[in-house]
Amino acid sequence: MPPSPLHVYLDALVAHTDGATRRLRDPVRFVHRYADPRDAEIAGLLAAGFAYGRVDLFLPVLERLFDALDAGGGPRAFVDGFTPEHAAPFLDLVYRWTRGDDVALLLAGLRVVLAEHGTLEALFAGAGPVRDRLQRAVDTLRAGCLTAAQAQGRGLASPDDLPRGLRYLLASPATGSACKRWHLFLRWMVRPPGDGVDLGLWTVMAPAELLVPVDVHVGRVARFLGLTQRPDASWRTAEEVTASLRAFDAADPVRYDFALAHLGISGACRGHRDAGICPACPLDPVCRAPAKRPTSRRSGR
Ligand code: SF4
Repeated sequence: MPPSPLHVYLDALVAHTDGATRRLRDPVRFVHRYADPRDAEIAGLLAAGFAYGRVDLFLPVLERLFDALDAGGGPRAFVDGFTPEHAAPFLDLVYRWTRGDDVALLLAGLRVVLAEHGTLEALFAGAGPVRDRLQRAVDTLRAGCLTAAQAQGRGLASPDDLPRGLRYLLASPATGSACKRWHLFLRWMVRPPGDGVDLGLWTVMAPAELLVPVDVHVGRVARFLGLTQRPDASWRTAEEVTASLRAFDAADPVRYDFALAHLGISGACRGHRDAGICPACPLDPVCRAPAKRPTSRRSGR
């Protein structure tokens, strides 16, 4: 059976996207700094954790954080030898609701967890759906952070007492959210490296098990293409978009994600039909984006 038009044009979008160039404007660029997978997986966790809001605002924050980690021997050496005093170079860091202290406590928790489990990959080992495996990993990381906080005398009784910014870095699928940053991290670790973006460092999970990291850009274009009808950024939406893409590539449905996300990140897609832009977009023949709504005037009341 010949591929559907949507399949053809999605493949064209992927072929049209220069991953090795586009990744310079993507947090995955920090993961590519490290040859050792033990450094790269920690870099991925941190870079994905900050991947919310505007790329041009969080990339400089990450640059500063990774410069500090590199001055301490790289992410893994920094974690293995971490003490609260080592956080001084980035303790004043602020990005929206993430603070330097949240990062410091995360690194302290990682030291606890990695001393027991060896690698982050090991946290995702075992049978079961990705949601269950992610939940176990999040619970383990939050428990490690709690242990570290208690060792610092912070007087916390449960993982729910951890600072809000740290709980946001370690988002839980139990809330029903799309957990976009976790799926981004897993995509980087699990998908094969052929596109110049993902690194394929882990074998504990197959690309077929991944879910699409649904953010505002991906969710919007997915609706334009009929990959989902759901209006929210929920776990169910991530499952629905992934199920639609599985029809085009059952072994690797998430391979479309980077190209879809960068349509929005690059500014190439305005989120509505644009006669100056859409004719050059590979998705134009199958995109059902609405025309731009007229700007509403304020009533002045
Ligand atoms: S609105 Fe235009 S630029 Fe955006 S996905 Fe559709 S065709 Fe492409």
